[in-house]
Amino acid sequence: MKPLMLTKHDIMIAGAGVIGLATALKLLESGAKVSILERGQTGMESSWAGGGILSPICPWDYTDAVTRLVHYSTTLFPDWVAALHKATGIDPEYHQCGMTVLPPVDIQNAAAWCATHDVNMRRQILPMPFPADENQRTADGAPDNIEAVVLPGIAQIRNPRLLQALRQRVIQLGGQIVENCCVRDWKIQQNKVLSVQSACGIFTADSYIIAAGAWSQRLLGKHALGLNIQPIKGQMLLFKFDTPPISTIVVKENLYLIPRKDGHLLLGSTLEDIGFDKRITASARQKLLKQAQPILPKLRESPVIRQWSGLRPGSPLNIPTIGRHPELINLYLNSGHFRYGVTMAPASAEILANVLTGSMQHPGLDTSPYQSGWSQSDSLLPIHTML
Ligand SMILES: Cc1cc2nc3c(=O)[nH]c(=O)nc-3n(C[C@H](O)[C@H](O)[C@H](O)COP(=O)(O)OP(=O)(O)OC[C@H]3O[C@@H](n4cnc5c(N)ncnc54)[C@H](O)[C@@H]3O)c2cc1C
Repeated sequence: MKPLMLTKHDIMIAGAGVIGLATALKLLESGAKVSILERGQTGMESSWAGGGILSPICPWDYTDAVTRLVHYSTTLFPDWVAALHKATGIDPEYHQCGMTVLPPVDIQNAAAWCATHDVNMRRQILPMPFPADENQRTADGAPDNIEAVVLPGIAQIRNPRLLQALRQRVIQLGGQIVENCCVRDWKIQQNKVLSVQSACGIFTADSYIIAAGAWSQRLLGKHALGLNIQPIKGQMLLFKFDTPPISTIVVKENLYLIPRKDGHLLLGSTLEDIGFDKRITASARQKLLKQAQPILPKLRESPVIRQWSGLRPGSPLNIPTIGRHPELINLYLNSGHFRYGVTMAPASAEILANVLTGSMQHPGLDTSPYQSGWSQSDSLLPIHTML
């Protein structure tokens, strides 16, 4: 195939998911020339598949490295989204809908964590199942009263809209997105990347960023060193009601229900460690329905209008790797955000852009934990330790 000649850019990014796009946007804003090479279509992998909850589902269960990155990112979110909306006219529907965590939950521990981390929380006695619908109650028997943890400040976003807005903004600022262009190999001399071999030709840049989600480790090949980024499949179901049947995100262990303002309701998700297999399954659908119907009996009468899956870039303890490659001086990684890449996107983009541009500005958080992923080989953590 005749190579397509691309203009030499300052920075080339592999992968146009939320992380690649957010990173491109930050770099374009700082005046860099940026190209993104995307194997398929922009924002159609994990970032599209996600639920858009802007928080870990039980935030007290995570390490400080996750908590700090999430905290900083969620602080950036309102202005980040408002600016995208203003510039593109696309509204990603950011709103604080709150999150209700149902038992089993260690309420004392949750309360102590929220107090320490300045997170607004209340304990609430709720009649189960949802919603307060007398006919439903009769059919399902008398309601039980349960004690739940409510976090009113948690927000959500609609991923496909966020991705469209990011794509448009990147292009508005002069970024180049080349779709259907799989990055295949790296030409390396000594400790530097000279060029990349892609499906649309050879491409050169001053600096290269890998933001290829679940495929990042595979793309690095032998240069992955001790990195441990694995695809972890998640399946989701979609319903449509006339009005939202619940007002907050509802979480019970790994299950969650996300109400959209227009009556759509997302039910997720599975955590499947089975490699690069994205097929949706009847067993996952049954499992999710079986777990969710006792919480929201209305789901029994409502058809599943869509089922999909995505491959999360799974990392031990959910800690992404953000920064320069330890051996190749012009290669950078922004990947491994596992369950919370949408939540972590603006802060991760800012951290990497600061490293790349040598900016003294920093988000006021210790970024060293996001370099530890390169040396995890002797402590490969199994999936059950991946929250
Ligand atoms: C079911 C599910 C629910 C989720 N819910 C939430 C949630 O509620 N909140 C939250 O914050 N996060 C959630 N997540 C996680 C979140 O979606 C991910 O952490 C995030 O999308 C990762 O973004 P990414 O850009 O790294 O990866 P991706 O979105 O997967 O993007 C990587 C891109 O790289 C491209 N690529 C791969 N290989 C190459 C190559 N060789 N050359 C060029 N391009 C390449 C891919 O085609 C893809 O477009 C969920 C994920 C799933 C699957």
